[in-house]
Amino acid sequence: MPEGDTVWQAARRLHDALAGQVLIRSDLRVPRFATADLTGRTVLDVTPRGKHLLTRVEGGLTLHSHLRMDGSWRVYPHGQRWNGGPAHQIRAILGNADRTAVGYRLPVLELMRTTDEDRAVGHLGPDLLGPDWDPRLALANLLKDPARPLGEALLDQRNLAGIGNIFKSELCFLLGVTPWLPVGELPADRSAKLPVLARKLLESNRERPVRNTTGRRGQDLFVYGRARRPCLRCRTPVRLADQGDGSRERPTYWCPTCQPGPAPFTPRR
Ligand SMILES: [Zn+2]
Repeated sequence: MPEGDTVWQAARRLHDALAGQVLIRSDLRVPRFATADLTGRTVLDVTPRGKHLLTRVEGGLTLHSHLRMDGSWRVYPHGQRWNGGPAHQIRAILGNADRTAVGYRLPVLELMRTTDEDRAVGHLGPDLLGPDWDPRLALANLLKDPARPLGEALLDQRNLAGIGNIFKSELCFLLGVTPWLPVGELPADRSAKLPVLARKLLESNRERPVRNTTGRRGQDLFVYGRARRPCLRCRTPVRLADQGDGSRERPTYWCPTCQPGPAPFTPRR
């Protein structure tokens, strides 16, 4: 599941490959834009916004894409074999004289006027890796619905943009509370720390190929993906349960000792 740091890395790869160069190949394989042709236009920049990617092209156009669960953008020099998946999973191809960017399994791909970008990303809260980052606003958004479980509020991109399911579990661990704690019950010292910690996690991971929240080598994550294994701090077995609003359940990990607070009665395993 791409999180803000993954999207940031994808944007930088695309920006490095495409920005400032004229497109000589353009192929959007979604019915609505199948006839759109961007060749002859220069790519101006590729910008991440939360988990969205905005590829801005000369002439006031923006190609908006979202990676969701398993989408990806790959960049290939000429002559290199494309290996991001079978050809029928390709949704977009953008190429210049040097490189070709290929978008695989993109669930969202739309061409829009750059002035209309707000339609795609205007609902997002402050972006943890963006120039608009505003810790106070992010916290105020999170606390707007005090009864909401912390884990769900963190994943809601309207509150703050960039946190996915892995950082959700890790952040709750670092804050020392369960993901089921109503946000309104977060102790003041913890809520003051929350936006700072969240930004630190994403910033320190945006250059890393392997996500790390612990600062230790070989033990990259405190709780995520570590069900029944000993907590890195206290050795209590890490627990796993689903968390969601009923429509979309997400595997959620926590240490019952380091993270006091409400938790589901029956852990998933
Ligand atoms: Zn623990």
